[in-house]
Amino acid sequence: MKAILDHVGIAVDDLEQALTFYRDALGLDVQPAEDVPEQRVRVHAVQTGGAALELLEATDEASPIARHLARRGPGLHHITLRVDDLRAALAHLRARGVRLVDDEPRQGAEGSLIAFIHPAAARGVLVELKQARPARSALTPARLPWGRLTLTTLHDGLFGLDGGAMFGVVPRTLWAAEAPPDDRNRILLAMRPLVVEGEWGHLLIDCGAGDKMPAKQREIYGLDRTRHLDHALADVGLSADAIDLVLATHLHFDHFGGATRRSPDGRLLPRFANARYRIRRAEWHDATHPHERNRASYLPDDFLPLQEAGVVDFYEDDGAIVPGVRVVRTGGHTGQHQIVFVESDGKTAVFAADLIPTIAHIRDAWVMGYDLFPMETLAFKKRFIREAIEREYLIFFEHDPVVAAGYIREKNGRRFVEPVL
Ligand SMILES: [Zn+2]
Ligand SMILES: [Zn+2]
Repeated sequence: MKAILDHVGIAVDDLEQALTFYRDALGLDVQPAEDVPEQRVRVHAVQTGGAALELLEATDEASPIARHLARRGPGLHHITLRVDDLRAALAHLRARGVRLVDDEPRQGAEGSLIAFIHPAAARGVLVELKQARPARSALTPARLPWGRLTLTTLHDGLFGLDGGAMFGVVPRTLWAAEAPPDDRNRILLAMRPLVVEGEWGHLLIDCGAGDKMPAKQREIYGLDRTRHLDHALADVGLSADAIDLVLATHLHFDHFGGATRRSPDGRLLPRFANARYRIRRAEWHDATHPHERNRASYLPDDFLPLQEAGVVDFYEDDGAIVPGVRVVRTGGHTGQHQIVFVESDGKTAVFAADLIPTIAHIRDAWVMGYDLFPMETLAFKKRFIREAIEREYLIFFEHDPVVAAGYIREKNGRRFVEPVL
């Protein structure tokens, strides 16, 4: 089993005093504090090269840190080892009779999975195992001026879909190297709505999966909403009420589930109270007339309540939604799937939705098994990516767990993404 030291956790009872040593005397770089409410701790990460130190403060009496301080006083609390596959690591340890605190992985911060080994097994040291994916900063919302417009990439948390279905005819040995699957063969995916801001207001493209999914489905899709769209909006000083227009690339639940919410009394309401929703009429038709192949992806609770609330504006064809923002039908993934061009002062950004869901999908033949018309996807994608390379379009990858946006480049016949956000 390969394990890499990730960080060392140190319980502190007096932060100021701890800082006079770690920050002032040693001169180390102490990061801004991060609260982890589920564990009732406040974490001050200290950069020390490869592995970090974490100064841990209890935020209330019931915190494990408070209990540790009461029993043993300040000092070493735990060490954290990073492993590639946490489930496999736990099975490996269990088979060797190692006493575990957590038999199953549980959710840690920023989409990571964690589990504790009992201190009795590790000669008195509490050992945390962690499977870190994606990178820590991968879901950080970011703003980018774009001519006279502003682009803000958000996120609605993480989820997982079957790796085989995500890559269609591509053999597992190839795609698993790009997107390592978990023990249920799911690969980690993000949901990244985009806000375009212009003099006409705030336009939101897609809105993630939202909160309505029942526990069983949440579990199937590994939906991790410890950080979701409300957090992302707040991080950039926005709220749901600031959105004036919502645009759907298509009505699949991972793109449009967040369009509605359930009120405390059980009614389904538009999530963005001040917004009009722009939906392509033919996509609405397909979503409301599902068949066996797409029924699991179209959930009526995501869109029918919008029509009942009278907030939907339908449009028929490709064209401008607001000045600088236009939609282009790609078909392929769904009959009416579309991508969104954002153009200002000669710069072009494209929200590629499920045409190029992750950076691994920049290869022409890497087309999702989910696509209803894969040959249509292939034809559109070949033409589009060629154009995107030549004209330097900034591409937004809605489902990539690490890269929100970047330029597709080609050198010596090799295609790659130069990340920007
Ligand atoms: Zn889709
Ligand atoms: Zn999707």
